[in-house]
Amino acid sequence: MPATTLDQLVSLCKRRGFVFPSSEIYGGLQGVFDWGPLGVELKNNIISSWWRTNVYERDDMEGLDAAILMNRLTWRYSGHEETFNDPLVDCRDCKSRWRADHIKGRCPNCGSTNLTEPRPFNMMFKTAVGPVADADSFAYLRPETAQGIFVNFGNVLATSNRKLPFGIAQVGKAFRNEINPRNFLFRVREFEQMEIEYFVMPGTEDEWHQRWLEDRLAWWESIGIPRARIKIYDVPPDELAHYSKRTFDLMYDYPTLGYEEVEGIASRTDYDLGSHSRDQETLNLTARANPNRDSTARLTYYDPESRRHIVPFVIEPSAGVGRCFLAVLAEAYDEQMVKAPPSERVRAVADALEAFLKSVGRNEKLASETRDALVERGQAILRGLPETMPQIETLLAMPGADQIDIGKKLRGQAQGPIDEYFRTVLHLKPHLAPIRVAVFPLKRNHEGLVAMARELRTAIQSGSFFRTVYDDTGAIGKLYRRQDEIGTPYCVTVDFQSLEDGTVTVRDRDTMQQVRIPASEVRAYVTGRG
Ligand code: ATP
Repeated sequence: MPATTLDQLVSLCKRRGFVFPSSEIYGGLQGVFDWGPLGVELKNNIISSWWRTNVYERDDMEGLDAAILMNRLTWRYSGHEETFNDPLVDCRDCKSRWRADHIKGRCPNCGSTNLTEPRPFNMMFKTAVGPVADADSFAYLRPETAQGIFVNFGNVLATSNRKLPFGIAQVGKAFRNEINPRNFLFRVREFEQMEIEYFVMPGTEDEWHQRWLEDRLAWWESIGIPRARIKIYDVPPDELAHYSKRTFDLMYDYPTLGYEEVEGIASRTDYDLGSHSRDQETLNLTARANPNRDSTARLTYYDPESRRHIVPFVIEPSAGVGRCFLAVLAEAYDEQMVKAPPSERVRAVADALEAFLKSVGRNEKLASETRDALVERGQAILRGLPETMPQIETLLAMPGADQIDIGKKLRGQAQGPIDEYFRTVLHLKPHLAPIRVAVFPLKRNHEGLVAMARELRTAIQSGSFFRTVYDDTGAIGKLYRRQDEIGTPYCVTVDFQSLEDGTVTVRDRDTMQQVRIPASEVRAYVTGRG
């Protein structure tokens, strides 16, 4: 079963070092996160999978990596200076600030409806380039990677000899001064995007839009997000940006949040290339492009058949790496009951949980929303016992839980059976797992076992594109559990039989079954399986 709450994922990411709050020792920076040792591996694997599918495995794509800082005029003619705004409202009572379209007329902080009228707030971060901060040195941190592709259209076309249709792919950082960053990695101020601009002959855009929708859904499936867990939102005309002919938003069913956008696939006509071109009046543009007197180029394509210069239409699939990371984790997450705990132990945990929830209900010091949230979660856990027992850890990490004294008693009752009868496991696709293989010696104080395990680790790692680690910091059962929790698909154990006949055991994360194979075959075994 995928994760049921965002808290389960936040807790795992923190506990195992996937994600840290930025500059945490100074109190952090709202809406900004750092990738920890395991997070960077998973994130890089997601990006590589996207790049492989969209650049290497197609014959109609090129890659690009444009700079984050760009000439300010890019953002004038793209329309961002004028229109990249969110509607900002202030709560007159508690002075907090909100995005008007996210709060339904009521302040989420104090409940007041005494709000200011919405006013536009431009989300681009500003900075100064060079030693003197004046009007000429003014620049933005890019709010999307797409414009780097559009302004390089002519360069790529001239150097690659591409014919339409073809596309350009790019992965990189983007910055948005979100009014209310929230929901962990979902809405942040610094993030990465994986974007494609696909250039097509005018008139063929509808067909290509549909093909990209299918191709993108196939990729999501390949990274473990089944088709059934994504809803396609065909954005209604009154919600479309003026340059968009049609947009499909792919909505993933996130735990706690419900269906939210993970990728947008927009049909953008000739708006972008047209807006960045000079001599617009000669280009027969269909879009309402931004009049441009500064560009030095016509971003057109010479069609040898019709012998005309045309401005290609654009299909843009654009996904956020962080939102993808969160979807992959949510889908892979599982708290699995390995063996049923005896009923008297379940009863003891249920009693402790009930006592905890009564104490929460009576606690006058907690804000009512905090109290309600704890009671609601706690009761859901109570109803689902014993399967939901591991969620008690997440419950106890929720705001306010540390104020309840008998929380300690609940933890004490639950910890034993959780460790004994459950495991947390990430059923990640092997090509995404931060670590593909972990090698253990059966005993850490046995020289022969340790030497063979270390050698095997080096042999598997050498020349492979995935990560292999050695670990001897616990008993085998514990080491398996630790690797399950971070999604390592294969654990290899070197035991006494290994010293005699050169074979080792390979344990499968999902089935927990072991096979015994020659050590020399492990690398092929784990490589061949994704
Ligand atoms: P939203 O409506 O949720 O603010 P958007 O429609 O503005 O998103 P796009 O401009 O289409 O988003 O950006 C493309 C992708 O970039 C989104 O599908 C999302 O995955 C990602 N993205 C956009 N804004 C953020 C953000 N603040 N934090 C994390 N990812 C983001």
